[in-house]
Amino acid sequence: MSDLAGAAPGEAAPTYVQVALNLPLRREFTYRLPAGMSARPGNRVRVDFHGRALGGVVTAVASTTDLPPAKVKPIASVLDAELGLPPALLALARAMAATYGCSLGEALDATLPAVAKRRGQRRIPHLEVRGPRDLAQQAVAELEDKHQAQSRVLRTVLEYGGPMPVFDVRRRTSTSDSPWQTLVKHGLLRRVLIAEQLEELVPAVEERAERHELNPHQQHAVDVVARTVAAGAHRTFLLHGVTGSGKTEVYLRILEEVRRHGRSGIVLVPEISLTPQTVGRFASRFPDVAVLHSGLTDAERGRQWQRLLQGRAKVAVGARSALFAPVQDLGLIVVDEEHESSFKQDSTPRYHAREMAIVRGQIENAVVVLGSATPTLESIGKARRNVYELLTLPERAGAGRQPKIVVQDLRAEPKESRRAGVVLSRTLLVMMQERLQAKDQVLLFLNRRGYSPVLLCPGCGEAVKCGSCSVSMTWHARRGRLICHWCCHEKRRPETCPTCQHAGMHELGVGTERLEQAVKERFPDAIVARMDADTMAERGAHERVLAAFRKRHIDVLIGTQMIAKGLDFPDVTLVGVVSADTGLFVPDYRAAERTFQLLHQVAGRAGRGEKAGTVVIQTFCPDNYAVEAAARNDYDAFVQQELVFRKLAGYPPFSRLLRVLAESRQEAEAQRLLQQAVTPLRGLPDVTVLGPAPAVVARVKDHWRWHMLVKCFQPASFQAAMAAIGTVEDLATRGCQITLDVDPGSLL
Ligand code: ADP
Ligand code: ZN
Repeated sequence: MSDLAGAAPGEAAPTYVQVALNLPLRREFTYRLPAGMSARPGNRVRVDFHGRALGGVVTAVASTTDLPPAKVKPIASVLDAELGLPPALLALARAMAATYGCSLGEALDATLPAVAKRRGQRRIPHLEVRGPRDLAQQAVAELEDKHQAQSRVLRTVLEYGGPMPVFDVRRRTSTSDSPWQTLVKHGLLRRVLIAEQLEELVPAVEERAERHELNPHQQHAVDVVARTVAAGAHRTFLLHGVTGSGKTEVYLRILEEVRRHGRSGIVLVPEISLTPQTVGRFASRFPDVAVLHSGLTDAERGRQWQRLLQGRAKVAVGARSALFAPVQDLGLIVVDEEHESSFKQDSTPRYHAREMAIVRGQIENAVVVLGSATPTLESIGKARRNVYELLTLPERAGAGRQPKIVVQDLRAEPKESRRAGVVLSRTLLVMMQERLQAKDQVLLFLNRRGYSPVLLCPGCGEAVKCGSCSVSMTWHARRGRLICHWCCHEKRRPETCPTCQHAGMHELGVGTERLEQAVKERFPDAIVARMDADTMAERGAHERVLAAFRKRHIDVLIGTQMIAKGLDFPDVTLVGVVSADTGLFVPDYRAAERTFQLLHQVAGRAGRGEKAGTVVIQTFCPDNYAVEAAARNDYDAFVQQELVFRKLAGYPPFSRLLRVLAESRQEAEAQRLLQQAVTPLRGLPDVTVLGPAPAVVARVKDHWRWHMLVKCFQPASFQAAMAAIGTVEDLATRGCQITLDVDPGSLL
């Protein structure tokens, strides 16, 4: 064997390391540690892999190997000798790989922030508009027809209003490097290098969280959890508290308790509620908070990571990936709004932060608190089976009262407004008038952006579809373009029907843009703002609009789900749900649950202050049980009904789902691959397979999509199904992309 100098007597120096590479390969690879280099499990290294330089993470060290030593290549470098991944996170990554069928390397990659891969301050390429803005504007229009990607890139940078990171430009426009490079070549854009900013993270705290006297329900919840904290044991609690019941105050008190025992905490919130408002509430109570949100540069994220790893910060607040914050001596993980779909990552590794929070809690003996006003059927199911301990906050804390909810049956509207696709019912209009006169604020919610979601030919009944995807294109009137929300492709609005040449297309359905127009027409004196992915393209726009609304510079705020969550505005006395039906007919077993959740959350925005609030829910389906239960504010009734349906159909919480999606330019390829993959699943006990069949959206970006849904009725049958399917590596064939999705977030 190699030279053992420096090793303790009787103990061989570690000479070989196992490395997990960020590739979809299940196995790990053996490398040699050159003399003078040391590494521990958790260290990130660079290695040569078939001529490619790749990053990987050391998972084990050994003094011997079964391989012929001459064949073992040396490690190129150790990147973060003193900043390795703690053992608990290594264990978490292993659990993640096992649960979600990804490789250990892929799981590890998700747990490490980008910066730990690199050190020092970087200069990042940005793009900015060169020359006068109106010239650029003109170029956007000229490029629109022949060079659509370039036009989109130029417009995006223009709208951003300053140097925009190339990475963000590519992501937002879903383009490659070539469009921006061409624009640079033609002198329309300039590429500039800007040093990464190390901004101060914790925002100027304007949100001083008062330390409220707890009400008896809150006190009970805190006491129960505190007992487990004192015992230093792991346990998962489900905190079911109606909106405004003071869940945050409960988290804060539990966190105080955890800190009193010298331990640390992680608070996960949906990205969308990671507002200065939320952060401020934690930052004002704990001096040592690290905030991790998606707007951070790599360097800043790395700095926060180091603070946590070195124990200088004791509380991490952040979205999904903050689950991997390397806090020392973890005592608590809070998952606020546990029902939020953004806790599920929709790229590899497709983990669910809630489920992995519980696994991390088990590994580190930490308490996990899941909180929601509308817990998922999965979570409430587990609470009822005593897997989780249920804690309830049945009343609003402090001043707020539950709002009055009015269901407006849109079928009762006059015929002509129904034909025009009622935007605002008479009831809602009258109430808005009243509230605006009283100088209160109004929130209008519609979960659909654009002007109208469908452009329909009244002659033949065909909708304008995307050329590359099997979905209809959304009409964006302000921009004057039809846009595919799946692939970002745009086109001009046809004068006549592309199918039958009938003149005059019909705008079917209502989006936020059309709603904004209608409100402005009806209330010309009101100040109206819209908050959706289209209006929030400019940097800082989100914070600006919220601040303006808070300062009451806006009378009516219109928005998509961006405004549904977590916002607390005391002067909002009227909330209008323009259409409760947008999600009701989505072919997904969670359609009713998501509708109920959304209605409930939106309704929770009304009457947060001293004044009473009213919520108007407009719907064509007032008898639907989800709408009805939301209107009565009756979570239990909804759950009871929904459980009956889930049980009948064998959906969660009565099964665990596994989705396999195959995408290929050749439809037959995708189909054939799944037909092979399904064979070993046939006959497995407690397993049912739906499909293989074409996916609901059968084609995206010119790729045909087939899928199958595997229902596993027992934990053991889930294991068996995972084993039978194998990994993406086993399934992959040339020209066909495979997605293996456990607990899938979308079934489309
Ligand atoms: P939730 O997260 O459950 O929707 P919040 O934590 O946002 O509710 O609390 C709603 C409001 O009630 C906040 O303004 C908060 O400051 C206030 N609040 C919380 N607990 C109390 C209490 N015990 N007494 C008075 N006000 C409270
Ligand atoms: Zn498309």
